[in-house]
Amino acid sequence: MRELFAIFGNPVHHSKSPLMHNLAFQKLGYPGCYTRRLLEDGSKLRETFLNLELKGANITVPHKEAAMLAADEVEPFAAEVRAVNTLVLKNGKLYGYNTDAPGFYRALTRLGDVKTALIIGAGGTARALSLYLRSRGIDVEVVNRSAGRLEWFKQEGFVCHTWDGFHAEAKDAVINNTSAGLEDESLPMPKELLDKALSNAKCAVDVIYGKKTPFLKEAEKLNLPTFDGSEMLLQQGIIAFDYFTDHRYDLDEIETAMRPFLQL
Ligand code: NDP
Repeated sequence: MRELFAIFGNPVHHSKSPLMHNLAFQKLGYPGCYTRRLLEDGSKLRETFLNLELKGANITVPHKEAAMLAADEVEPFAAEVRAVNTLVLKNGKLYGYNTDAPGFYRALTRLGDVKTALIIGAGGTARALSLYLRSRGIDVEVVNRSAGRLEWFKQEGFVCHTWDGFHAEAKDAVINNTSAGLEDESLPMPKELLDKALSNAKCAVDVIYGKKTPFLKEAEKLNLPTFDGSEMLLQQGIIAFDYFTDHRYDLDEIETAMRPFLQL
């Protein structure tokens, strides 16, 4: 019998996750089927998951915290960042994981030996990535347009800056975690600050996908190795698939099966 999987979010119609996972199920010969489900009320997540008799699910905006609350067991990192994007049912219990940050890290390690990083932005994505990268031994600094969201980072012990008086020091990776460039052509920092940060970097990464952002265009002018949010999307999907299929395949094998979705 086929196992069922779904992605929950609001909105969710744009999600590429069904395509990505169904392609991998098909190529690896795994009896799984993956759909999408609009969920308006996050508190109904557990009940909806169980009623649909799912084996696993991904959870996207705005329900990642609700997914953490829906799980019986949450892995420590996902609990720390209060964001679960993967749920798996095993022996009657719901297990919650965060695969966004490990997926990002898996992609980042391919760009070279990254020991220091500048994260631009201080939203939910920046929180998860900064903590995860630090847990992997990367020294992270954060710069944001305004001061408010930086409070959390200060309390976590990160060196933080607003644009005022910011002097970019050399960092191996510069990471855009803002939404600048998503629906406009803006850069995540004033151009002179960004150029300085990029000119000292070994690589640059954006989490936005679906377009080449002005940030990535600047990085490419400097011939820096880059990836964008579609790579992060793919890598979080690979790690989620690994949980869905109880570690039956190795990650590279899943990647070979899944990567072609980027061309579809
Ligand atoms: P949040 O809304 O939590 O935070 C947004 C951040 O962007 C804030 O730091 C904000 O600064 C900053 N910002 C917004 N507009 C600008 C601008 N014009 N110039 C400079 N800074 C700006 O967002 P998230 O952390 O949830 O998401 C950030 C990005 O990550 C989004 O573009 C999202 O699409 C992408 N993403 C990609 C994923 C993937 O799988 N590829 C997964 C998750 C997110 P301030 O505090 O001053 O307002």
